Amino acid sequence: MTHSFDPAAEPAAPARFDTLALDDKLLRAVADQGYETMTPIQAKAIPIVLAGRDVMGAAQTGTGKTAAFSLPLLQKMLRHENASASPARHPVRALVLAPTRELADQVAASVKTYAKHTLLRSTVVFGGIDIKPQALELKTGVEVLIATPGRLLDHIESKNCVLNQVEYVVLDEADRMLDIGFLPDLQRILSYLPKQRQTLLFSATFSPEIRRLAQSYLQDPVTVEVAQRNAAASTVEQHFYSVTEEDKRRAVRQLVARRELSQALVFVNSKLGAARLARAFERDGLNTTALHGDKSQDERLKALDAFKRGDVHLLVATDVAARGLDIVDLPVVFNYDVPFNAEDYVHRIGRTGRAGQSGLSVTLVTRDDTRLVGDIERLIKKKIEIEPFEFDDERPRRPPRRARDDDDERRSEPIPERFAERRPPQAPATDPLFDQPYEAAGGAVPQWEVSQPAPPPNPRRAVSANIKPKRKVASLLGGGRG
Ligand code: AMP
Repeated sequence: MTHSFDPAAEPAAPARFDTLALDDKLLRAVADQGYETMTPIQAKAIPIVLAGRDVMGAAQTGTGKTAAFSLPLLQKMLRHENASASPARHPVRALVLAPTRELADQVAASVKTYAKHTLLRSTVVFGGIDIKPQALELKTGVEVLIATPGRLLDHIESKNCVLNQVEYVVLDEADRMLDIGFLPDLQRILSYLPKQRQTLLFSATFSPEIRRLAQSYLQDPVTVEVAQRNAAASTVEQHFYSVTEEDKRRAVRQLVARRELSQALVFVNSKLGAARLARAFERDGLNTTALHGDKSQDERLKALDAFKRGDVHLLVATDVAARGLDIVDLPVVFNYDVPFNAEDYVHRIGRTGRAGQSGLSVTLVTRDDTRLVGDIERLIKKKIEIEPFEFDDERPRRPPRRARDDDDERRSEPIPERFAERRPPQAPATDPLFDQPYEAAGGAVPQWEVSQPAPPPNPRRAVSANIKPKRKVASLLGGGRG
């Protein structure tokens, strides 16, 4: 059975970290980060975790939930802190499971930051890279282990880690772990852990599957919610523009130029689409990289680092690859493709406007996307206005070439200086993605991976058949509401 957190007992926000029963070592680490007051999820969850309760946390990305679980767990583990070199003195006490390599890596970086003044050790393990260095590190002993489920099972089977002293378990982004199909792995991992433990589950949404998971593995959890469930971050300015497929790239370039955007994350629905679009933007002279599941782990981390450093200005990503990304001050998220799953919309736009900053989200809508936009509207419980996109340059454009739908018009609007290439534009490299058919996991090729026929050329302003041009229109999606 779950209990709702009593709002009367909520601390008055914004509360300072030093009002918490946290050790000075942890408070110093927080101060080093420049955090002064707690975010709402921190103010609510930290005292509950310190009190030893299981937690079911509904927190959007960007709410500060990593510190919300890391700080109290580190506090509780301080009693085990020791300087012994013996691995036996450093058994795994806390296990954090995350759906993707990027999220695991990010959580691990945060845990290291918060634990930096303590003797507690932490490490991260995920697939796609050599298992041996991870095995060696595990064998030296770590108190906090952050892992993706598949690689953790490999380590368990190879007896690289023993989990019989685990006292705390965090299931981070649990909804995405289920989406990816990790439920059997999670069940196996949880079966290896002591029954007597404290379990925290964080999820952007509480679907019936998440509730079932919580019922099976959490004991009398306290439910903590910080934003209206499934509501999009209120700090994000959301726009939906009607465009044709062929005009999407031009729309992105024009918005980047018009708003002088320093960096942008561009979401697409397929790996193949991400690789193609990144190459097309590169040819437009935008410094771009792609982040998708067909890239090696090393390539993905490098792409992400380059983007975080500001060396790359446009990151074209698929949902799974981008899950859990935390990029400070990301000004805009483009939904180049409307996501197939409305919940992904909430995750995507949560990449901007993080930790209370303002952000912009731009969704490019074609006439085929009406149903998907309706799903988003129902999920976020807000009326969506689809605006016609006003292109700056209405010169007739040559129709797209048939051979390559990603290699059409040259840019006609200026690109802000900071977006310009730092290196000369490269000739298109050969890309194995184009030489072999994409194979989805399980062998089936999803509908969206099948190449679409080129859209008919539309030289005039791109307005969906649903949209009356030249004026803002209320959503046309009323019919599908429910
Ligand atoms: P998370 O939701 O855990 O991914 O955190 C989102 C971002 O908020 C990260 O960049 C954190 O460094 C930042 N953050 C976490 N807690 C605070 C805080 N109390 N004050 C300001 N920023 C924070």
